[in-house]
Amino acid sequence: MATDKLPIIAIVVPCYNEEKALPLSVPKMLEILERLNKMGLADKASYILLCNDGSKDRTWGIIERLHLQDTRIKGISLAHNRGHQNVLLAGLMTAKDHCDAAISIDADLQDDPEAIISMVHKFHEGKEIVYGVRSSRETDTWFKRNTAHAFYTFQNIMGLETVYDHADYRLMSNRALDLLSQYGESNLFLRGIIPQIGLKNAIVTYARSERVAGESKYPFTKMLSFSIDGITSFSARPMRWIFMTGIVLLAVDILVALYVLISYFFSDHISAGWASLMLSIWALGSMILIAIGVVGEYIGKIFIEVKHRPRYAISDRLWD
Ligand code: UDP
Ligand code: MG
Repeated sequence: MATDKLPIIAIVVPCYNEEKALPLSVPKMLEILERLNKMGLADKASYILLCNDGSKDRTWGIIERLHLQDTRIKGISLAHNRGHQNVLLAGLMTAKDHCDAAISIDADLQDDPEAIISMVHKFHEGKEIVYGVRSSRETDTWFKRNTAHAFYTFQNIMGLETVYDHADYRLMSNRALDLLSQYGESNLFLRGIIPQIGLKNAIVTYARSERVAGESKYPFTKMLSFSIDGITSFSARPMRWIFMTGIVLLAVDILVALYVLISYFFSDHISAGWASLMLSIWALGSMILIAIGVVGEYIGKIFIEVKHRPRYAISDRLWD
């Protein structure tokens, strides 16, 4: 980086039904930009890009108003609700050619914006990807905290490499964004893709707080399907495991067959066998269903990928 020119930092914010949170979080982010500029870490042309994900409330109206008040606030709006990962990609790709580094952050201030300053410091030290990692989850409910940890562990066991306790709060240099733009898959799981990009990276920790306003759009069911998406987009390990289970079951089967044959020839009483029969029918039935389900997951992925559908459509843009 040239020392005479300060980097332009873009703060990219996905917004879905955030009419209550934006009026609180945007001023805080503007204050951070001002401080970065005073500290000589970011150019005055640094900006906030608010990305409306087809909200049903007044979110876009608020973004338009904020843009009129301050040109450092820019906006894009998706034609439909495409989900957090897609709208985030739309924002990052829009910012890509207009910034030196982009920081993605949620609209609800759960990710402490103060960490942006440490991220930009790391960027000046030459890091190209800086992951925001939660130092504690005290403000999450007991249930959310434990299910989230179970998900990370499960994903890692299943062969999906992610940064522990890192969500989508991170800084990416222009080069990292360019590399990200080369990933063509439709099933986007940014937390899995970005560690694969490589480049020099670092971690910044922060305390995760409660939402400033509005409510979470990630209930348990959405988290579960997000986690399954992550695993099946990145690893074929579940399929391998099913195959191995099949082999082990086959070995057990041979032993059982031997036992049955021996008792058939050498035992003179016939057991009722009803319970074991029912048990095995149920056990095998469920295992077969699980196996078909896993195969189905991958076929579903292939089905979606071959279509090469565009992942988002930007309908409006507030820039200069
Ligand atoms: N979000 C989005 N589209 C969606 C759902 C969520 O853009 O379909 C945004 C939301 O506005 C927020 C971020 O993604 O800025 C994270 O969502 P949320 O805070 O509801 O999730 P949680 O923090 O509870 O996991
Ligand atoms: Mg949140």
